[in-house]
Amino acid sequence: TSVEVATPSRTRDIVKKYGFEFKKSLGQNFLIDQNILHKIVSAAELDSTKGALEIGPGIGALTQHLAQAAGKVTAVEIDNRLIPILRDTLAEEDNVEVIHADVLKLDLKELFAERFSDVSGVSVVANLPYYVTTPILMKLLEDRLPLENIVVMIQKEVADRMAAKPGGKDYGSLSVAVQYYCVPSIVCIVPHTVFIPQPNVDSAVIKLSLRDKPAVETPDEAHFFRVVQSSFAQRRKTLMNNLSSWLGKDQRETLTTMLEQIGIDPGRRGETLSLDEFAKLSTTLHQAGL
Ligand code: SAM
Repeated sequence: TSVEVATPSRTRDIVKKYGFEFKKSLGQNFLIDQNILHKIVSAAELDSTKGALEIGPGIGALTQHLAQAAGKVTAVEIDNRLIPILRDTLAEEDNVEVIHADVLKLDLKELFAERFSDVSGVSVVANLPYYVTTPILMKLLEDRLPLENIVVMIQKEVADRMAAKPGGKDYGSLSVAVQYYCVPSIVCIVPHTVFIPQPNVDSAVIKLSLRDKPAVETPDEAHFFRVVQSSFAQRRKTLMNNLSSWLGKDQRETLTTMLEQIGIDPGRRGETLSLDEFAKLSTTLHQAGL
């Protein structure tokens, strides 16, 4: 097995050896704490029959641990300066493939077919670049990849929004989108001190366990998400006001009747509606051609 990358001294040595300069614009904050790495990897419930997709391996801190825990690892890194470093730090790991690409531009279905057709399950495990957390996660979910779970380090504030229940200030369209596909749980809150360089936001590890089927049934998924977006459009407004801004003021009476029929008070705010209630609302509006 190879030398541990995730220690302050080894990370500094590697950075120095290659004259590597951190790019803030790529969200480069490398992990230097093995405790956190163990927590991340164990949350993913890997074994030698499983595959792991890592997004943004950096200099390989997490990748090494994944190589030990999973049967196969594919790591996608956008920064070409890191590719030779990874070749070095991962030299001993024969089950790791590093791909130089922007994960947002990659055909992940094709990658899964090529790389993970022979494993019993796949997890995405990553310390994500915070500037693109949401686009990356939404791509993973909307592509309907055959994933068991996603375990990622993200900004704590975003983790709170993903895991939020109806009624609070954190609950919004991101909560609904994530919970439609997954069951979220926060694995741990992470201090600044476990990164080089230290980020200026708080971090958390979140686990998203993929549901076998979406949390609610809807006649038209795109419509469901439009209803959700519209209901949260202006958070201080009532559901009725948000819906009528979307569908037109002339629909207010129809909307009132419909909301009453499905037992939702038109004076409520979007942020109090559960996924079930959004599904009911979407179904009713859709049936009425709205
Ligand atoms: N996994 C390493 C660790 O934990 O020490 C590095 C994590 S660092 C927070 C994020 C990594 O994602 C960086 O290596 C960065 O270059 C890479 N990255 C940023 N944007 C990316 C993208 N669009 N596609 C793939 N990798 C990306």
